[in-house]
Amino acid sequence: MTRSPHWLDEGAAHVWRPYCQHRTAPPPLPVVGAGGSRLRLADGRELVDGIASWWTACHGYQHPHIRARIDEQLKRLMHVAFGGLAHEPAYTLARRLADMLPAPLSRVFFVESGSVAVEVALKMCIQHWRNRGQPHKRGIVAFEGGYHGDTFMAMRVSDPHEMHATFAPIVEPLPAVHLPLPAADDGGAFEEALSHVAASSAAVIVEPLVQCAGGMRFHDVTTLERIRAACDEHDLLLVFDEIATGFFRTGAAFAMVRAGVVPDVVTLGKALTGGALPLACAVASEEIFSSFLGDTAERALQHGPTYMGNALACAAAHASLDLFAADDYGARVPALEEKLARGVAPLRSHPDVTDVRVFGGIGVVEMKPGTAPKSEAFVDRGAFIRPLRARTSDVVYLMPPLVIGDNDLAVLFTAIRASLER
Ligand SMILES: *Cc1c(COP(=O)(O)O)cnc(C)c1O
Repeated sequence: MTRSPHWLDEGAAHVWRPYCQHRTAPPPLPVVGAGGSRLRLADGRELVDGIASWWTACHGYQHPHIRARIDEQLKRLMHVAFGGLAHEPAYTLARRLADMLPAPLSRVFFVESGSVAVEVALKMCIQHWRNRGQPHKRGIVAFEGGYHGDTFMAMRVSDPHEMHATFAPIVEPLPAVHLPLPAADDGGAFEEALSHVAASSAAVIVEPLVQCAGGMRFHDVTTLERIRAACDEHDLLLVFDEIATGFFRTGAAFAMVRAGVVPDVVTLGKALTGGALPLACAVASEEIFSSFLGDTAERALQHGPTYMGNALACAAAHASLDLFAADDYGARVPALEEKLARGVAPLRSHPDVTDVRVFGGIGVVEMKPGTAPKSEAFVDRGAFIRPLRARTSDVVYLMPPLVIGDNDLAVLFTAIRASLER
């Protein structure tokens, strides 16, 4: 490797990196450009990005249509506060998202990050019951293995033993419980467990079909059908966190569409802008929205981020939705799924590999804890891949741009195979 650029050396003493042990971590890779599925480093090397910048860059990097749409918006209006003011990109985007989502999801609250979308979704549910004269319905039912973000309530509803173990004792007073996901052989244990906490609960939150950051675990439609039925029986709202699964990652526009199960609130983020700019949202049913109507300010939703509905981010989201509408992602993703399955299948027989599985645009090689190669091993072979390290397993996964070409996919598969064989 050649010398690192001066901005990296000079800035390194002042930047605090995410989930990073600064004492032992190697320096970050300086990226000076990107295009398609590739990152270009300062020393001229190119890496195929196996994880699409935390699953956002679904159309590939620097897509000309997204750039053009942002450029166009840049000339008119970058940002204006959402309190008392309105702008076209946000209002047309809200309408467009509502048209894309199944009924009754129709009211869009924009925020700047997924974690905040989760906070808002849960606040909507808790305040909904409060506004309806049932303030005792305030707890949240979440699932083991889930991940919903890094802010406090998002940590509370994420799996307490995985990424947020450090803060588990701090967030514990926030009202929430974790249950195992309904499983075919649980003999009704889920319904039984839920019945004990339902009376004091406002909502159930789940990542539909795939629990992503918690270990890329898949579950079937029946699981979601049972959760929906139990919510209906006990008068609980259902929140789907589709921040990772939304926008064709599972093959359908949303996991809820693929599953045929519709929640009362959904959170969206990550691929919403095609990886260009930060934007997320919580989308609620009109029924939930209506319980916030009344004569008092207290009855209104108590939230309002400074950069809510940023106009440039909304323009990027429009461009991303244009691309989804113009190009047949419904056919593209099953083709990617097949290629991922063929690519990871040969690893099944590796002694450290405990499972390989593929769903939509997600390919997973699960390994014994502590055995996954470090990121550097993949980088040496031209691939950017960051394994998840959970308590019970290491997870080498691919969530590449949905448009990734065969040659770039081959680089990823070869890098994984070679790193495991070393
Ligand atoms: C990434 C993620 C979040 C958090 O989103 P941020 O934008 O990182 O705050 C929440 N839920 C799920 C399912 C995610 O994958």
